Amino acid sequence: MVHTKTNIKPTNDRIGWRFDNSYARLPKSFYVQLLPVPVRAPWIAVLNHALAESLGLDLRSLSEEEAAQLFAGNVLPDSAHPIAQAYAGHQFGNFTMLGDGRAILLGEHLTPAGERFDIQLKGSGQTPFSRRGDGRAALAPMLREYIISEAMHAFNIPTTRSLAVVTTGESIMRETMLPGAILTRVAASHIRVGTFEYIAGTGDEEGIKTLADYVIQRHYPDLSSAENPYLALLNTVIERQASLVAKWSLVGFIHGVMNTDNMTISGETIDYGPCAFMDAYDPHTVFSSIDHHGRYSYRNQPHMAQWNLARFAETLLPLLHPVQEQAVVLAEEAIHAFPHIHQTHWLDGMRKKLGLFTEETEDIQLIEALLTLMREHQADYTNSFRALASETLPTTAVFHDAAFIAWHAHWQARLSRQSESRQSSFCLMQQHNPAIIPRNHRVEEALAAATEHGDYSPMQRLLAALTNPYADVPEYDDYRTPPAPSERVYQTFCGT
Ligand code: AMP
Ligand code: MG
Repeated sequence: MVHTKTNIKPTNDRIGWRFDNSYARLPKSFYVQLLPVPVRAPWIAVLNHALAESLGLDLRSLSEEEAAQLFAGNVLPDSAHPIAQAYAGHQFGNFTMLGDGRAILLGEHLTPAGERFDIQLKGSGQTPFSRRGDGRAALAPMLREYIISEAMHAFNIPTTRSLAVVTTGESIMRETMLPGAILTRVAASHIRVGTFEYIAGTGDEEGIKTLADYVIQRHYPDLSSAENPYLALLNTVIERQASLVAKWSLVGFIHGVMNTDNMTISGETIDYGPCAFMDAYDPHTVFSSIDHHGRYSYRNQPHMAQWNLARFAETLLPLLHPVQEQAVVLAEEAIHAFPHIHQTHWLDGMRKKLGLFTEETEDIQLIEALLTLMREHQADYTNSFRALASETLPTTAVFHDAAFIAWHAHWQARLSRQSESRQSSFCLMQQHNPAIIPRNHRVEEALAAATEHGDYSPMQRLLAALTNPYADVPEYDDYRTPPAPSERVYQTFCGT
């Protein structure tokens, strides 16, 4: 197929692309320039019009056919500058050189408000980093990323977002033949801890400085005037990740593959593979089929974030201080602060979940006692918190336990010790305890309808419910029901 940039100019520029590809101006060792591999028969599975509008893109001016060609990478926006980025990763603790093995960064789009977003096609064909992979992606995992990332956005959790999923009209070989698809991912940037590890791994000290300066300029411009901008960068990324992982815990989200290549410098959640939300509360929960030792279980997420950040800190050592021993001291100090920073964010979020505006030192015991009860009763995490934010408690077993009744009295007394009204507490709780999460069994159901029967209505309905997850919408009450034993999903797959 002819694949040039000249045949597309009239089609795509009218939708409002404004690309400025600053990453492609960085040293050539950071990436490889190449085009997406065209696909046979692209077809739009889902388009995110709300996101497009917020980016200043007018997708409605494209025909379905034109949109499909665009989001398949068969035609390119005039000012795109497609590259595959190089990066490395500690995957389950082991260091590997990686890179965009199945993704192409089209470029950075500038919104009318002046914000800069990476526009990336995932599943767009082989690259020099593909190793043994085919560079492609299957439909179900791409739809899954679309659903979960949009839900995370609705929870106000920093995340990459999904602009489109197209099917390719080609089958890909996994354990069985599956329909191929491409996801268009929108991110503050795709710079990862693994990007720094890659450059450090090549021994390029100047490159690390170039990348750190670029990140500061792109994401954290205020830091350039700090006394030690690189230490300030480390501290800021630690802060962002501590806040992020706390937010995950607060909604019961388990990422599943917290490898260093899946941790962004911007603090956005990235790479939705075997991720899932917990139904019954159990801190040991693991869903990912490849996580045999529970490395990335719910309760381990903060530890793993800290471990990844230590890898980030190592790459920055030459920049932190000219004397290596001093640099190590500074890095260690920063990394050791992580648990406390994380705990502060988590506690802050938990207080909101319980309607607390003020701080008392015993709050931690109050929270832990509730979580212990929930664990003992295998109570549904989401519904238990949401129930506390309602007028009357449901008949669920946990709420009849004498220990819970005693806990409830403590909580009521605690609420009375703050000046805010009960009504204000309920409002706060309603805003921090979602009514609807993308429960695994409902996600799987939506994906099965789409991929096996071409029926996208269950997915569209789920997406509609998830746009407003903190509201009580009777029409969507069915999404609040936890899975019956026969519906429980115990394992999720990366879907690479
Ligand atoms: P992930 O587990 O999705 O973070 O992927 C780890 C690495 O494998 C990344 O560098 C991906 O680009 C690469 N990868 C995943 N799936 C494929 C595929 N089908 N073909 C080529 N590379 C892939
Ligand atoms: Mg990844």
